[in-house]
Amino acid sequence: MSRCPMCGTELGPELSPARPFCSPRCKKLDLQNWLDGVYRLPRELVPEDLSGLSDDEQAELLARIARNQPEG
Ligand SMILES: [Zn+2]
Repeated sequence: MSRCPMCGTELGPELSPARPFCSPRCKKLDLQNWLDGVYRLPRELVPEDLSGLSDDEQAELLARIARNQPEG
């Protein structure tokens, strides 16, 4: 048994397409927190982070990443 790291919902035996999150919504919230620097995870964005997002959402997030890149 595992829990969604975003909201703590217990995850059932069926695999969520957004795992380890319970839903695409929690996955998106986590990604937004990451982009906002809340977590400051020392990792690169991976394609899986964008899976489940609409094209518009992906474009928005990628634009935010571009703006967050340090100069140079
Ligand atoms: Zn959740």
